[in-house]
Amino acid sequence: MFKTVIGLEIHAQLSTPTKAFCSCPADTFGDTENTAICPVCTGQPGTIPVLGEETVRLSVMSALALNCQVSEISCFDRKNYFYPDLPKGYQITQYFRPLARNGFIEVRVGNGRKSHIRINRIHIEEDAGKTIHEGASSISASGKQGGTLVDLNRCGIPLVEIVTEPDITSSREARLAMESIRDILRYIGVCTGDMEKGALRCDANISVINTRNGQSSNRVEVKNINSFRFVEKALDYEYKRITQAMKDGKEVVKETRTWDLASKTTITMRKKEEESDYRYFPEPDLPPLRITGSYLEEVKKMLPELPDEKIDRFMRDYALPEHDAVVLVSDKELSGFFEETVKVTQRPKEVSNWLTGDLLRILKERDMTVGQSELVPDHIVDLLRLLDSRTISISVAKEIFSECVRLGKMPSNIVEEKGLQQVDDEEEIESAIRQAMKDNPKAVDQYRAGKKAVLSYFIGAVMRRTKGRADPAVAGSVARRLLEDD
Ligand code: ADP
Ligand code: MG
Ligand code: ZN
Repeated sequence: MFKTVIGLEIHAQLSTPTKAFCSCPADTFGDTENTAICPVCTGQPGTIPVLGEETVRLSVMSALALNCQVSEISCFDRKNYFYPDLPKGYQITQYFRPLARNGFIEVRVGNGRKSHIRINRIHIEEDAGKTIHEGASSISASGKQGGTLVDLNRCGIPLVEIVTEPDITSSREARLAMESIRDILRYIGVCTGDMEKGALRCDANISVINTRNGQSSNRVEVKNINSFRFVEKALDYEYKRITQAMKDGKEVVKETRTWDLASKTTITMRKKEEESDYRYFPEPDLPPLRITGSYLEEVKKMLPELPDEKIDRFMRDYALPEHDAVVLVSDKELSGFFEETVKVTQRPKEVSNWLTGDLLRILKERDMTVGQSELVPDHIVDLLRLLDSRTISISVAKEIFSECVRLGKMPSNIVEEKGLQQVDDEEEIESAIRQAMKDNPKAVDQYRAGKKAVLSYFIGAVMRRTKGRADPAVAGSVARRLLEDD
């Protein structure tokens, strides 16, 4: 038997207006290369970094939301290494005295169960630039084939690094933990969580213990994972690779690997660097950061209700199943929309069904958010009323709902305009069924021979003839009567 041990190091980009230590803009995604830079973030000799206020506020908010103890004094250090995207030759980080320690998150793993994952530390650091490796087919400015370009726009963008304890026990739990951290950071507005834009990435560390003999493998680190799916896949792959090596009695090398998109495997990047390789030392140009009690109180007041609390409240106050609450809360806008609607209709489960089912499907198809759609709470209130009074059938309601999302028209107006009132005139339904019986005598024989499932064919025929306006229950009972009588 093997037991998996996983710890995550998550890098989240803070949504500050400027970079951490200069006044360059921090939102550089999509900008022309090397335009959001200045002497400070490119490390020109004689320049001095100055810590931005928003960087402090947002990182303290993150620490509080992740239940950490914020240190009164934290310090900045230099992490030295050479790479073309790091013109200073070091990154400013907080190594010896981080901003905060000893936090935790409660990750919902399904069936009402929560997994307690401790956070070891959170510290502030700056991002490095980006190297762009051109394919051999491209010609560089100097006329050479291929080559590597450097974009320094990301240099100095403020990040918080969130380091979990190795409390995670499966690849799925790792993914859920990462999603849950993303949700928290989004809720409090400190990070967009956009992984495709590099605003959130993670390094996943994994080791495996053989529970028979207690032997543990070395730890392997998979660097720079930029999607939730890849976290899970990379860790699944590593689990298989490591356990195979252990079964074969081979050593698992302590190393840094990377998830390779093309081969769907992890590949070796380098031998794991040791602490001493980075020659950490205190950053002489930045004074210690002091967080006073009153500042902490001020920031605490800015914290909104967090996703986990909100899920609990939705389950308690609206009697929603956990799944509904999780889906609604995962999108702050959606959960607000839900609460606004329920204030008027007081029918939380039905409202939740419309929002988590039809609405999310339509939004996904159109790549939109709730706010970008035309839907307002009154549409749902109106729609439920039309269903209650049996003015429309459920299939018509679904059609109307999609129009509300796209065009913002009131359901009752759509019903009027298009004449979508439910057909409860049994004569019309009866004639539709008689027609279907004439068209398909084989189906009639099958039904009479005992194949009762054929009933749905006749209901379907009625729906088609009435363009979905018939009440399926009425259509079913009329069809049964006609098929059994005649
Ligand atoms: P480093 O700075 O070398 O990456 P850290 O001690 O800061 O090392 O740990 C980094 C990450 O590795 C943390 O998320 C931690 O939870 C995880 N980790 C530590 N020990 C193990 C282990 N035995 N197996 C898996 N992950 C581990
Ligand atoms: Mg690491
Ligand atoms: Zn700058």
